[in-house]
Amino acid sequence: MSWEAVIGLEVHARLSTHTKIFCGCATTFGAPPNTNVCPICLGYPGALPALNRRAVELAIRMGLATGCTVHTRSVFARKNYFYPDLPKGYQISQFDEPLATDGRVLGVRIRRIHMEEDAGKLLHERDASLVDLNRAGTPLIEIVSEPDITSSEQATAYLTRLRQILMYTEVCDGNMEEGSLRCDANVSVRRAGEPLGTRTEVKNLNSFRFLGRAIEYEIERQISVLEGSGTIVQETRLFDVAANETRVMRSKEEAHDYRYFPEPDLYTLAVEASWIDGVRGSLPALPDARIERYQREHGISAVDAEVLVANREVADYFERVARDAGNARAAANWTRNEVLRVLNEQKIDIHAFRVTPEMLARLIRLIDSGAIGGKAAKEVFEEMAASGAAPDEIVERNGLAQVSDPDAIREAARRVVQANEAQVTQYRAGTAKIFGYLVGQLMKETRGKANAELANRILRELLDNSA
Ligand code: ADP
Ligand code: MG
Ligand code: ZN
Repeated sequence: MSWEAVIGLEVHARLSTHTKIFCGCATTFGAPPNTNVCPICLGYPGALPALNRRAVELAIRMGLATGCTVHTRSVFARKNYFYPDLPKGYQISQFDEPLATDGRVLGVRIRRIHMEEDAGKLLHERDASLVDLNRAGTPLIEIVSEPDITSSEQATAYLTRLRQILMYTEVCDGNMEEGSLRCDANVSVRRAGEPLGTRTEVKNLNSFRFLGRAIEYEIERQISVLEGSGTIVQETRLFDVAANETRVMRSKEEAHDYRYFPEPDLYTLAVEASWIDGVRGSLPALPDARIERYQREHGISAVDAEVLVANREVADYFERVARDAGNARAAANWTRNEVLRVLNEQKIDIHAFRVTPEMLARLIRLIDSGAIGGKAAKEVFEEMAASGAAPDEIVERNGLAQVSDPDAIREAARRVVQANEAQVTQYRAGTAKIFGYLVGQLMKETRGKANAELANRILRELLDNSA
């Protein structure tokens, strides 16, 4: 019997608030160490926390955006443990009554989303360890999945979609390098049909690549342990990027008993149903809904739709072009192939892109009306992207207007026929493939500006009729 992997992810997302979850300190990333701190986030005795309403609102947004039930009642709890980056000696989190439960993303069930505060950060130097408490008290949500994931690819796809939803809803900036989004992977393996195996947890994966690699390593490792008649011990592991392997951090025996109890300094969190409804009404159209709509309304492929929705601004851009041009397929092709390529080349995001949706829509209409040909369109696009000039202006200035006047094309075709007697004779004697050469000559004669369809038709008429 072959092995199958079972994976559950715990994802921490930093909420995009200006201030911390229980005090008024700023959450700015990269401030000088220990400058965004106060008695509350430093855990001074007697300092009292006060819950940040905006943080709750953002957590509600994510709950709703992932199809969770958001509870009108939830409870903050103390999770007690000692660590030098945690001056209070406990983290305020939610335990048995979380804010949101029972959602679903890409077919993976979400068990719960709860709110909590982040800890500070330790910096290890050669002969000293330093602590920066700027991050202490930064609002987080933790999104816990059921063990529904069966491969590293599925884990990556799930985390990708979670990140997109966080960014669409503006709940979190999704910046993994700065640690705004971190992931713990729980991994076990079992023979098909058997009950769940013992799992290990790989902590603090802060890139998609590391997530994929850590899971793959862990699956392989566990299978080889079990095939060697060993047993898997439940433990926490760290992914060593340089060695490309996971290593034990602590075993179950050393695991903490956190002694959770309700936080006495905070009230039960009561969220009015009307607030939840208001937040629901303010959600933007999310990736899944857009993918479904692009396929259904515009016949765009699932793969193309997935690319278009990856970034909300790009998806909005595409939708505007599609609407203005009245041609969604062309809008999808241009956005997917050309726009994304230029953004990549110029290393900019779409706000800095010089081709506005109106300009691209105009370009598509110029093509669809026959005013310019495909090759000219590419040239216009490149120039718009480089200079920001209007499409009509570029067509005019560069003389790119397509010749769609049948008389002018027929005139040119006659000249080609006269100048290429030998080839014309060959064609008329039955060498059909010489036609391509003659069309080429006609395009040359019109300096590439003849409407290609017309050029073909007129030249063929001329050759076939006046034999
Ligand atoms: P804990 O409360 O100890 O963190 P949970 O049971 O709440 O453990 O699970 C934490 C995470 O581990 C969840 O994402 C869950 O889906 C995942 N998980 C639980 N059991 C397994 C297993 N056997 N294999 C893989 N993942 C698992
Ligand atoms: Mg855990
Ligand atoms: Zn503070």
